[in-house]
Amino acid sequence: MSNTPPNDAPALNINADLPFQNNTVPAMLEPDHSFCFSCHKGISCFNDCCKQADVTLTPYDIIRMKRKLGIDSSEFLKQYTVPVQLDAHLPGIKLKTSDAGACLLVTEEGCSVYGDHPTACRYYPIGLMNMKKQDEKDEEQHYFKVKEPHCKGHDESKAQTIAEYRVAQGVPEYDDMNHSWYQIVLKKRSTGPTVGMPSDTSLQFFFMCSYDVDRFRRFVMSDSFKKTYDLTADTYAMLADSDEALLRFGFDLQKQVLFAEDSIPLKAGAGEQRMRERKEVWELRQKAEIARYQAEQEQREREVTDGD
Ligand code: SF4
Ligand code: SF4
Repeated sequence: MSNTPPNDAPALNINADLPFQNNTVPAMLEPDHSFCFSCHKGISCFNDCCKQADVTLTPYDIIRMKRKLGIDSSEFLKQYTVPVQLDAHLPGIKLKTSDAGACLLVTEEGCSVYGDHPTACRYYPIGLMNMKKQDEKDEEQHYFKVKEPHCKGHDESKAQTIAEYRVAQGVPEYDDMNHSWYQIVLKKRSTGPTVGMPSDTSLQFFFMCSYDVDRFRRFVMSDSFKKTYDLTADTYAMLADSDEALLRFGFDLQKQVLFAEDSIPLKAGAGEQRMRERKEVWELRQKAEIARYQAEQEQREREVTDGD
């Protein structure tokens, strides 16, 4: 495993939140925008960015890093990440840092997961901005530049366009894998305020499908899932074997569950059965809510009486 980035390859990053969670709108750049930048091991600021890391992770980042580290996704989340809130109240995750702010994956030689390092680290000092106009079906991708005083890579003379830089950093593969997820986040953002706070269950579902792929696999292989969804044995075999296939399947399932898109076939009668089960759960929740409200009222009345 190489811990050292090759010359001219930025191992490093950061301090750039994913743009869809950032309220400031920086100057938007297009793929043909040319800029001077180079990052290499001999540079005076080597590792400085990883020692002040603020890296929001995407679903595909987790798959790549947990495999590189030889652990499952639940363990990766526990050891290396902290929660953060994305737009539309959606749960996000960031890389955990030391008390001093350093990424736990940085070593004196560079990034210990280099080659499988996250999207934001690859893009740096470019940021990705996914946007969707209200009246348009497809989202647009724009870019912006992050210029931080500690980063001396901007003083280097190597010129390249954003398009060339993305390819050199292996970003297209990451953006392609995460594309449906960006769509889900953008769609949630655009529908969020009109439908209010998402339920805990839908947030947990989003979290599991987006970040905890090994737990999601157990969910998909469960008997109750198989009773509900009409998938072939070949599809189940593929989902058992491939994290990438499972991730894409999870995005389709999220679109079905969160936005009622018809993306995964249901078994005959499963829709009605689920509606019945949901109605029962809904009625039980309502009863619990009423009981909680009554208990609070009684408690308040007792406090008022005691105060008298
Ligand atoms: S994952 Fe690697 S490149 Fe990204 S901040 Fe950590 S050490 Fe640096
Ligand atoms: S601060 Fe900039 S130039 Fe220095 S190591 Fe990090 S990305 Fe490379």
